Amino acid sequence: MESLTFAQTISMAGFLFDEMIFGPVNSRRLGISLGINLLPTHGKFCTFNCIYCECGWTSNRNGLHMQLPTRADISQRLRQTLGELIGTTRQPDSITFAGNGEPSMHPEFAEIIADTISLRNELLPSAKISVLTNGSMLHKPTIFQALCRIDNNIQKLDGGTEETIRLINMPLKAFRIREYVETLKRFNGNLVIQSLFLRGEINHKKVDNTTEKELKAWLSLVLEIRPKAVMVYAIERETPLEGLVRIDEAALETIAAMVRKAGIEAEVYA
Ligand code: SF4
Repeated sequence: MESLTFAQTISMAGFLFDEMIFGPVNSRRLGISLGINLLPTHGKFCTFNCIYCECGWTSNRNGLHMQLPTRADISQRLRQTLGELIGTTRQPDSITFAGNGEPSMHPEFAEIIADTISLRNELLPSAKISVLTNGSMLHKPTIFQALCRIDNNIQKLDGGTEETIRLINMPLKAFRIREYVETLKRFNGNLVIQSLFLRGEINHKKVDNTTEKELKAWLSLVLEIRPKAVMVYAIERETPLEGLVRIDEAALETIAAMVRKAGIEAEVYA
């Protein structure tokens, strides 16, 4: 994999993308991926506080008043960057919204997606548009509709029970797993589920989303949601919570095999 260091800084908080548009990098799942970070470049901004987040703990210190890139800046920089990359060996397969937190928290997320679709159609119709999201803003109709329009709508599901998700993802606002699943079902299969598996302990409570009971609950939700694919992950980098156990590839393959057996495509990224 191409080095990410030109676009990232390592701080006490973890890895942070220090540019609005970064890469492209070779992504195992998305090919040559040009990243867009809609969040601040100096800190993380998220609705979750995942114990494994490679950007570090969520602080959201400056709330919604922190400086975010503007819609106009993103559109102009994306046009310029695509212009530089098209026809080269680094021509993107995917324009990917990821970065220092939850992209759909950007107040102009839906408009930015619309601009990106137009730019993609005009300049590079072969590129897919991908968004990595935790799904916490799907209650907003504009966000839900924007995600319906993209190619790779990648939604997080790290457990089969509310308790496990609360321990692993630590949502900052009320989280109801039933509501979340019902919302994901409304995509009618036009989504990919990404799930990260780990073991550890937080606040003297054990957390393990790989037990038979946990996997059974998780799989039953996946089957209800009927995504077009499931991405199965392990921890890749240093985590803000110490002592988390990385799940080995063989165990992840077993999980992916369960999904495939149920008729849904699954891929391991270990
Ligand atoms: S949702 Fe993503 S960015 Fe937010 S805390 Fe979790 S891993 Fe980090």
